[in-house]
This record gives sequence, structure tokens and C-alpha cells, in this order.
Amino acid sequence: MFGTSQNPSSTSEPLVTQTAHPRKTPQLWSPISWTTKPIYQEAVYVDQKSVDKSLSKLTRLPPIVTQTEIVKLKESLRDVALGKAFLLQGGDCAELFDYCEENAIESKIKLLLQMSLVLIWGANKPVVRIARMAGQYAKPRSKPTEIVDGKETNSFRGDILNGHPLDERDLDPSRLVSAYFHSAATLNFIRASLSSGIADLHRPLDWGLGHVHDPELQVKYSNIVSSITESLRFMRTVGADTAGQLQSVDLYTSHEGLLLDYEQSLTRRLKNPSSSRAAKADAPADGKSWYNTGAHFLWIGDRTRQIDGAHIEYFRGIENPIGVKIGPTTSSSDLLALLRILNPSVEVGKITLITRYGASKVRTLLPSHIRVVEGSEYARSVVWQCDPMHGNTRSTATGIKTRQFADIFSELQQTLAIHKQEGSYLGGVHLELTGDAVTECTGGSVGLAEEDLSLNYTSFCDPRLNEKQALEMAFLIAGHYRG
Ligand code: PEP
Ligand code: MN
Repeated sequence: MFGTSQNPSSTSEPLVTQTAHPRKTPQLWSPISWTTKPIYQEAVYVDQKSVDKSLSKLTRLPPIVTQTEIVKLKESLRDVALGKAFLLQGGDCAELFDYCEENAIESKIKLLLQMSLVLIWGANKPVVRIARMAGQYAKPRSKPTEIVDGKETNSFRGDILNGHPLDERDLDPSRLVSAYFHSAATLNFIRASLSSGIADLHRPLDWGLGHVHDPELQVKYSNIVSSITESLRFMRTVGADTAGQLQSVDLYTSHEGLLLDYEQSLTRRLKNPSSSRAAKADAPADGKSWYNTGAHFLWIGDRTRQIDGAHIEYFRGIENPIGVKIGPTTSSSDLLALLRILNPSVEVGKITLITRYGASKVRTLLPSHIRVVEGSEYARSVVWQCDPMHGNTRSTATGIKTRQFADIFSELQQTLAIHKQEGSYLGGVHLELTGDAVTECTGGSVGLAEEDLSLNYTSFCDPRLNEKQALEMAFLIAGHYRG
């Protein structure tokens, strides 16, 4: 399945390899029909035999997530598309196998939970939580190689492909199977933690606002926290938690569906849950559909959403809810074409459009994208989600990749305002964050300056909001709704 002929160019253009002659109008879909299409960001291994061995192992391993869970998420995303709920998606840019560890997982779950509480309070709506976790191991790169210590070396492409240490930069097929087991172990611990009460809201949460020095903000955030804790106390007192909903929550998993051999191996034909649309309207004769059982939600990256490309071909066949990154290079005609290929039956909530333009471009570019979708048969059917991270990455004078908190919030604020003007609904946010005290993005109430970036910069890919910055982002969004 992997070609061996690719000779990656050293330009910043996406990597492309024609694996076979592309067909113009694809008819029959199968989990391998993507192999007939041009593929971008392809993984080219030296040892094909080992790749085949890994893939056949993956094909036999059990699903990591079930179709019942996938359909449940899709129903929740339908509510988001209809403006009845809000979507919070967040996690690392590149998840490492090393993050499959108790504290790292726990701190991220707690952060997402805490942020979701703030958003529920702010937007006055249920919040759907999706973690960029338990499988976010493959990274698209603008260049196949980079210069390290004066030597040209393969770029780090995520733990599923190669390792970050310089002596691990060759693509290693055994990592495909490792990725599965790290995903499964991570999700196992998430499930165990949730069912053991990590999300029990009857327990006091640590809001740690000590770092907020601005007295006005301190008051504002403290008021939000008091409101939330008061509401929880009240619900407990009046016994409003009969269904035990305050003791556990749903947390779904997601990753970029970049490495199609891996995705294909975990794609299974499964019986549709009786409640699902697939079991009703356009029901297949055998009552089954194809599900990607590696994650509940998968998205297509900005570099791999070519209409005639392999990724779109793969994604059009799976039942999971899916995301598509939309940015400055997306034309309006491509946007509509994407929706028509990926969601021909106009299923509400099936597609999340993850918009990422950058604070300086969103005002010019988002309105026309909204108009083309909302003026078509897809009106009110998509989830509009703002990713204020990926259009706001820049390098410091000393070459450190960073993002400014103010730029991130600015894109978010403008996106909220534009949707309001256009009469559409901003249904969610997509953030790169971690539960640890990293120093990768500047600004926020923690007051991180460029000089502080080296203190605890641990990302091997994009800079993430740390715990305090992420929570502050949730406060600011809530503040927007509450005025
Ligand atoms: C990402 O989400 O980490 C990413 C690579 O984003 P994009 O595809 O939008 O550049
Ligand atoms: Mn990223």
C-alpha cells in the first residue's frame, strides 16, 4: 500500500505522490478505494514486509471505540449544529507515546472538564467534549526534512511514524502497532477514571486563580467560579442529580486521520445501532455501515483535503462524525464540493468545519465561507468550530515557534462576532492545550513573555496553551456570552 518511489521535495509544498492513476468520479467506496487516489503527506517505508505485518496485526485487533459511542457522539453533534449545544475539543498538537501516563492523562481530562463547566455556565448549553487524545500520533509536515545541527534529517512526523530523537527519525513500521496500544491504554485509563468519579462535580475543584494579577479580571473570574460552585451546590442540595449526571461525563476521542493505512486497518463493517440514522433512512440492506473504530471523531487536516485526494476518498465512506480544517487556501467552490462528497445525504452534525484563518485574516475570509454553506442545501447542517490556534503560529526572533494569547482570543472573538452578523451559530472551539505548566504560548494572565518560552517548552510540534491559559480562554468565551 505504500509506494517506495517518493522522493520528498525540499520545498514547503505539501508532499504528493501519485500512487495510481486518479479516477475522475469515484463510484464504489471501500476501505481501500483511497489507494487509487493521489495521496499527500504519504508515508514511504523501506521495509514493506514489516508494514504489512503491522497492518495485518491491526486488522485483527478489537475496536478501540464502539459504533454505539460513535453514533451517540454524532447525535450530540447534531444538537451542536442546531445551536442546542456547544463543542469543546482540545489536546496536544502531537500526542506522544510518553504522554500515555497517569498524571498527563488525568491533568488533561480535568482541564477539559473544568473548561466545559465554564462553557456550560457561559453559553447556558450542554457541552460536548472531544479530546485530541488516545491516537493523535500522526503529524502533517510542511517539509519532509529539516536541518538539525547543520545536518539534513527527516522531520519528526509523529510517534506513529518516527521518533523525535535524532536517531529515531527513520520511519518504523512497528510504531503502527504501538500507536494502537498506546491509544487503547490511554482510552482505558480515561474510561476507568471517568467511571471512578474523576468527573464527580460534587468534589471541590481547584480553580487556582492566584496568577491573575489584574484586579478587574481577578474579580471577573472569581465571580464566574463562585457562580459555578454555587450552582453545583444548589443542585446537590435540591437533589437534582438523580440520574448521577454530575458524577460522570462523556469524553470522546479524536485525532487527525492522516495515516490512511492505519485508519483503514481499524475500519470495520459493523451493525448500526438501532437508534442511528444509518439504521433507518438510507439503511444498507445488511443493516451495517463502515465505522472507523480507532477514534470517535476524526478530522481531515488543512494539507490533505484535496477534493480528488486519497484522504477525502477514505473519509467519504465512514459513518463517524468528521471534521475538515478550512483555512485561507480553501476556495468557496471546494468547500461546497467537500460537503457534497463527504455528506451527500446532508446529515445534520455529520461534518464539523474547523475554521483556522488567523486573527488578521478571519474578518476577510470567514463571511464568504459562511455564506456559501448557509446559502446552500447545507444550511444549518454543519457544526462551525473555530480553531484559533493554527492561523496564529509565528516564530520569535530567535526562531522559537509560538502563539500569542491575544491573537488566539482575537480570532475567536472575531469569529463569534462574524457568526452573529451572518446569522449562523459558532458551535465550538478547537484548542491545542495541555494540563501541564508549559511555556509555549505567550501572554494571558500568567503573563508569559518571549523570554520565558525556554523555561518549560516541551512541545515537539505546535505551541500549546498551558492549563492556566486554557482555562482563561474558557473564562473569556463564557464572558462573551454573559456580557
Ligand atoms: C493540527 O491540528 O495540529 C494541524 C496540523 O492543523 P492544520 O491541519 O489546520 O494545519
Ligand atoms: Mn497543531
